[in-house]
Amino acid sequence: MTVRPDIEDLLGRMIRIPSVNPRERAEPAETPLAEFVAAWAEEHGMRARLGEVADGRANVLVTLDGDSAETVLLETHLDTVETAGMTVDPYEPTIKDGLLYGRGACDAKGPLAVFLGAMAALAAGGPRPRTVVLAGVVDEEHVYRGVQAMRREFAEQGIAPAGAVVGEPTSLRMVTAHKGCMRCRITARGPGGHSSEPWGKTNPITTAARIAAYLADEYAPALDALARPLVGPPSLAVTMIDGGSGPNVLPESATLTLDRRTVAGEDPHEVWRELRGLLLARFPDGVEVAEPHVVDYALETDPESAFVRGFADVLGASGHDPAPKGVGHGTDASKIALDGVPAVVFGPGAIAQAHTPAEFVPLDELHAARDVIEALLRRTGGDR
Ligand SMILES: [Zn+2]
Repeated sequence: MTVRPDIEDLLGRMIRIPSVNPRERAEPAETPLAEFVAAWAEEHGMRARLGEVADGRANVLVTLDGDSAETVLLETHLDTVETAGMTVDPYEPTIKDGLLYGRGACDAKGPLAVFLGAMAALAAGGPRPRTVVLAGVVDEEHVYRGVQAMRREFAEQGIAPAGAVVGEPTSLRMVTAHKGCMRCRITARGPGGHSSEPWGKTNPITTAARIAAYLADEYAPALDALARPLVGPPSLAVTMIDGGSGPNVLPESATLTLDRRTVAGEDPHEVWRELRGLLLARFPDGVEVAEPHVVDYALETDPESAFVRGFADVLGASGHDPAPKGVGHGTDASKIALDGVPAVVFGPGAIAQAHTPAEFVPLDELHAARDVIEALLRRTGGDR
């Protein structure tokens, strides 16, 4: 008989601790939550410590030793998105019709409560075949500094997890694939001048329009050949256009912003270099392709790896859909997978509720997710 901490109460307490990602501001935004997690974990028989990432912002690492040094990593993020425009109180959790509302309810304090609750059950007794490390990291909603710091620390300390579960809302599905992205700006330039005398002058808006048409009509359709089973083909969309200074002035520049979604096997930096080469060969005059301002990696975990098959077995035995799933949005899992760790994404609540004015997590999914993670951590015998 093991003790089950009340994870609804735990989630409520964590929602009451604001941890909004400060983006570029230097503020220790997630640290009060990291300190709370460490204290809660120690109260429940685990070891915990904080590690500063930047600006006083700290990841929290919680360890529960098992019978073997083989390690399962549970990773999720401490930060949330902003609360402006929320129609529920972001920091006062409320329960209505079986749904718990508040900022972070599903993204990702719900998954964090699931992980802590499952680990506390193991700490209280029963089989503990493997060592479990929980990483609560900062900055997932911005530029992933938390997971990158965690990877560096694992490399320094020789921690090589046998598998990882990344906590995000997946409606209890096992996500093994998602896309990455590369975003950059393209600027066309011209001499400018009076618009009544445009002859012989390069108009950057015309160049930008030609570039946009080339990208939509020739470049993007060719990406279909790179489709992957769970996520489909890569994509490219021009998402912003900016140029011109007055209705009777020839523009001196026009800038396009593009969003190129990548699939497994594509390095976003290499995608940028190739795209830049194509554009400069085709539009040689006055065109600049700036370094990417956002890159992220795609995830494609082998569904046949022992860890993933084990997780699928646990899902199936618990009455949940064990089939691997692909999603469009990014997660920390793709960074963890860069180190060769089989990583899946799993958690209660739906991505459709994340970042919304009335974010919630269904309580039945919260408890079901906790049961799945406990069963995974108690699982003995690796390959089936
Ligand atoms: Zn998230």
